[in-house]
Amino acid sequence: MTVVTATHNQGKAREMARLLKPAGIIIKSLADCGVTEVPEETGTTFLENARIKARAAMEATGLPALADDSGLCADALAGEPGVDSAVYGGLTDSAERNAYLLRQMEGKTDRRAEFVCQLVLLYPDGRELLAEGRCEGEILDAPRGDGGFGYDPVFFVPEYNRSMAELTPEEKDAVSHRGRALRALTETLL
Ligand code: IMP
Repeated sequence: MTVVTATHNQGKAREMARLLKPAGIIIKSLADCGVTEVPEETGTTFLENARIKARAAMEATGLPALADDSGLCADALAGEPGVDSAVYGGLTDSAERNAYLLRQMEGKTDRRAEFVCQLVLLYPDGRELLAEGRCEGEILDAPRGDGGFGYDPVFFVPEYNRSMAELTPEEKDAVSHRGRALRALTETLL
């Protein structure tokens, strides 16, 4: 099966390709298909936004489309950045967004947070497969490590006693929200 991954985020696209390869799925990126438009994410939940992205990619390419909507939810911030993770504080640069998040967390003793990943695989005939994955951890006081992408440097993973950005790609895939969601999705495909 050939699937288009409905994302312009290179970090996500890399992880999706890496995690889907063992399932024998051929991955095309939106760039491979010549698609440059980005649909407006007007949903209020990860699921609504994943559906918007999957539909736009499927309609633009005619291929089954796999969309990921994901983000970081901090308990002390009532679930923020949440669905606004990509634009938190009106910032588009990851390092600036991480600094902004750390400022919001200043003085907060409850550092618990989780990454959430909602996947939608939409087929041209309208069939839809859903899968969700979560990864629990804590918000650090300062960034650590230079692997991964996005909020990885400020997210502490208790299982490894390291930040997400200090993990190897294989270690991240084993515990990450995206790894868990993609494994759940590919199991339903087998
Ligand atoms: P969206 O799903 O395109 O709305 O954006 C999700 C945003 O959440 C990304 O731009 C990242 O900032 C953040 N995010 C999602 N998954 C990860 C991850 O695995 N590591 C770090 N940040 C992530």
